[in-house]
Amino acid sequence: MLKGASLVAGEWLGSDQTFQNEPTNGAPDSFAAGTPELINRACDAAEEAFWTYGYSSADERAAFLQEAAAQIEARGADITAMGMKETGLPEARLEGERGRTVAQLRMFADHIKAGTHLDHRHDPALPDRAPMPRPDLQLMQRPMGPVAIFGASNFPLAFSSAGGDTAAALAAGCPVVVKGHPAHPGIADLIAQAFDAAIKATGVHPGVFSQVLDGGYIVGETLVKHPLIRAVGFTGSLRAGRALFDIAAARPEPIPFFGELGSINPMFILPAAAAARGDDIASAWAGSLTMGAGQFCTNPGIAVMLDGPDRDRFVEQVTAALSDVAPQTMLTAGIAKAFQGGCETVAAQSGVEVLVSSDNPTRAAGPQLFTTTAAQWLANEALQHEVFGPMAVLVIASDMDEMRSVARALGGQLTCTLHLDDADTRDAQSLMPILERKAGRLLANGFPTGVEVCDSMVHSGPYPASTNFGATSVGTMAIRRFLRPVCYQNMPSALLP
Ligand code: NAP
Repeated sequence: MLKGASLVAGEWLGSDQTFQNEPTNGAPDSFAAGTPELINRACDAAEEAFWTYGYSSADERAAFLQEAAAQIEARGADITAMGMKETGLPEARLEGERGRTVAQLRMFADHIKAGTHLDHRHDPALPDRAPMPRPDLQLMQRPMGPVAIFGASNFPLAFSSAGGDTAAALAAGCPVVVKGHPAHPGIADLIAQAFDAAIKATGVHPGVFSQVLDGGYIVGETLVKHPLIRAVGFTGSLRAGRALFDIAAARPEPIPFFGELGSINPMFILPAAAAARGDDIASAWAGSLTMGAGQFCTNPGIAVMLDGPDRDRFVEQVTAALSDVAPQTMLTAGIAKAFQGGCETVAAQSGVEVLVSSDNPTRAAGPQLFTTTAAQWLANEALQHEVFGPMAVLVIASDMDEMRSVARALGGQLTCTLHLDDADTRDAQSLMPILERKAGRLLANGFPTGVEVCDSMVHSGPYPASTNFGATSVGTMAIRRFLRPVCYQNMPSALLP
């Protein structure tokens, strides 16, 4: 049963405006729209909650995270059913994503119990040091305060209301105010019900988790501008992320804005690998590109290879593999329309050849593949942007120098991939220093879709892949975004956190 309302500090609150979700099948559901007033109430409650939750023990916060995970699992069947209705994603994908979401909550529970997130450093006093004695100094990471969270359309669970940003912030000790995503308000509603139940079961302050449903841009803007909000976690498009980043920076008191944005995730197919197993790379690329209708931030949207006979075979193989893929339902009609528009823009550029095109029904997308030369790609910025969906550009370089020029011209990326054999080592070595400056994650002989949640993951990259300078939104290091180092000098132990 849906509540159809925003959850603000333990109360389900409506407004005089309503909106509906956009189901792929069945009747739409109605929701009360969020408002700036609800944001103000949620932020006030989050600040009040911080005075207890921000100073609670790791065990208490871990218990809350564990309970939230259990409450989500208890609603698993309803969440999957609603997810299939709202997003068109298949059952197996939604079940898998729910598993990842609860695993993230549990991972952060274990992480804070181990205490490594505190980054505790201690320089003991040296009272006899000459010429000046040294005081006792201790560093510890402390929670920042209330955090605003914006999730993405394409991960309705793992990057949304109970996603990695929320789990990291709550683990750190920061209450959250979530701005519900308009593409899946039903899932958001069920997740908020799980948090409501977890709050009641564990007795934490109800202001620790609030969710205000969509109500136009004013709702998100009010949240980012709110003086009690200390940081923002955002996953979504470059356009929206940049707009909100600018708002965060223009506040009288600017705050950190951790935006995970789009990426074209380039792959460099080196000559020996192309000769030895170009067919396999081509088929696997087609699979990675079309998985989930290409609606992944790590979708490999550009491949670069050298001109020559191996290129012809590769083109034949990837074209055949993609031509077999039927159109798939997209997350929203708006995303399907934007995909079609983005492909038409690329097709219209001079020097671009269409290898695979698709005639898509409303709210669906089939694969589209284009090819061009490295010289054209370098000269035309319109070919270098993310088109969200199953679309890619195959860029043909005349030699390794030109391939390196493409690498140098890339904007910041979430991932860069090398396909190489032993004989490609020298060429790969010449690309590595360039690619390291471009991406948060470098892969060899693999595909970037599928992000492991673990200690060593970096899901981030230089702008415009993210605004996360030196941070990640996936893996245990994600908690650092919501912590701030404090040094305690000569502090009696009774006063230390
Ligand atoms: P989106 O359109 O940017 O929406 C994200 C959120 O921002 C929504 O809640 C949206 O709500 C809000 N928003 C958009 N414009 C706004 C504005 N001007 N002011 C205030 N709020 C605004 O993106 P999406 O369609 O959900 O997600 C797809 C994108 O996310 C793709 O580019 C994908 O690559 C990227 N992505 C990145 C990652 C990563 O980890 N880097 C992961 C997943 C997805 P409203 O629509 O109501 O404004």
